[in-house]
Amino acid sequence: MKALEIVKHQRDFFNSHKTKSIQYRKEQLKRFKQILKDNEQELYVAIQKDFGKSVYETYETELSIIYHEINLALKKVKCWSKPKRVRTNLANLPGTSCIYSDPYGTTLVIGAWNYPYQLTLVPVVSAIAAGNTVVVKPSELAANTSAIMAKLINDNFDHGLMYVKEGGIPETTDLLEQKFDKIFFTGSTKVGKIVYQAAAKHLTPVTLELGGKSPTFIFPDTNLKMAAKRIVWGKFLNGGQTCVAPDYLLVHKDIQERFLKELKNQVLKIQGENPKGSDAYVRIINKANFHRLIALIDKDKIYYGGETDEDSLFIGPTILHSINVDDKVMEDEIFGPILPVITFDNLDEVISKVNSRPKPLSLYAFTANKKIKRKILNEISFGGGCFNDTIMHLTNSNLPFGGVGNSGTGNYHGKAGFDAFSHQKSVLSKAMWFEPFLKYRPYTKLNMKIIRWIIE
Ligand code: NAD
Repeated sequence: MKALEIVKHQRDFFNSHKTKSIQYRKEQLKRFKQILKDNEQELYVAIQKDFGKSVYETYETELSIIYHEINLALKKVKCWSKPKRVRTNLANLPGTSCIYSDPYGTTLVIGAWNYPYQLTLVPVVSAIAAGNTVVVKPSELAANTSAIMAKLINDNFDHGLMYVKEGGIPETTDLLEQKFDKIFFTGSTKVGKIVYQAAAKHLTPVTLELGGKSPTFIFPDTNLKMAAKRIVWGKFLNGGQTCVAPDYLLVHKDIQERFLKELKNQVLKIQGENPKGSDAYVRIINKANFHRLIALIDKDKIYYGGETDEDSLFIGPTILHSINVDDKVMEDEIFGPILPVITFDNLDEVISKVNSRPKPLSLYAFTANKKIKRKILNEISFGGGCFNDTIMHLTNSNLPFGGVGNSGTGNYHGKAGFDAFSHQKSVLSKAMWFEPFLKYRPYTKLNMKIIRWIIE
């Protein structure tokens, strides 16, 4: 189907008001879950083909998150959709005030390739729960997962409700020329700007889930072994191709040597001596990214790792030490299994260096010191993050997930996802038997005095 046709079809479907029924939304979500469950095997095979992701990691970081979001939406959608009564101000009494969560209408979800299922389908769950229709554009870089999502959705749902349009830049550009009522984009900051500009032409609201360099602080008072374990897990998960991965470490100088040793121990423990021979170690998505990444490895600064193999798109877990803020690896988001370690002494200085960069999507800090935690929260703007862990904040759907500034705009997950796809329609309902004379002429001094007295 052509972009224009799909949008027209979905707009007609939305205008039939079928999606306004909570029962209908729940039925679609239940069906969606069942279809995913019935076809799990095919989903595993597709992602294995795309970038060698294991069944366990696919369930842990993709399907479990989608199932959780569907279950939560099924349980809460009725409550989330209920009109919310709010207090009515004096000037409008007698009357009542209500906020209605109104579906935007026909929406577009553009996904990234690195967690192809959850990044594409979790926003779809929110869009359906909120009563929208949705056109889905998965990333063409993960061609097999894109194809299986298209097959499962297009074969099983009314195209007026959900439709997957596969393709790359030309197809996405075509879609972006259409007028949508909401666009939800996950991907790079560079493409985020293109999407934002296209949306502006139609004044379409957007949620942009973008990337960035997420800093991770390690202070001397922390449990170094546990910190290293949680960092190594978060950094090398998915071959480092995670938007919220700890991008670089800021390690206090007093613990530098000990911490590097702990990092190496944990890499060996978690990833094993031979990650190249392991089918649980995720590969780089394509040659372009492989070459981009190996150019970031300064051979003189390798503390551990550095093993690469172009044929299998393998880059082993790599730790770089003695890194300076102006090294090449510190320019852009790494998005691969390379972990640069920077040593710091003065917290104020390092905070101002972090603040001189674009606002990060995530920030992590390992410390029990309340003063340091408060200082970091108070002085650095970032999307979200954790004290004493990495990545795990996004598994709590009570925490809205999203970036700020260059790392994105808007949030999702759980209720925040429902809200991202809903317009807050505010409505005042007045009684007909009373009208305050102060609204009307004559504009006398006395009336002015009364208004001032009420307001001030
Ligand atoms: P990308 O920006 O290259 O692609 C994302 C989507 O945009 C794809 O569907 C692609 O087809 C489309 N696209 C690419 N170029 C386009 C163009 N010129 N015009 C219109 N559409 C275009 O990103 P990616 O490589 O898929 O993902 C990696 C980036 O995404 C990283 O920066 C990462 O940090 C970020 N990311 C962010 C999150 C988050 O939740 N904030 C999650 C995952 C990835």
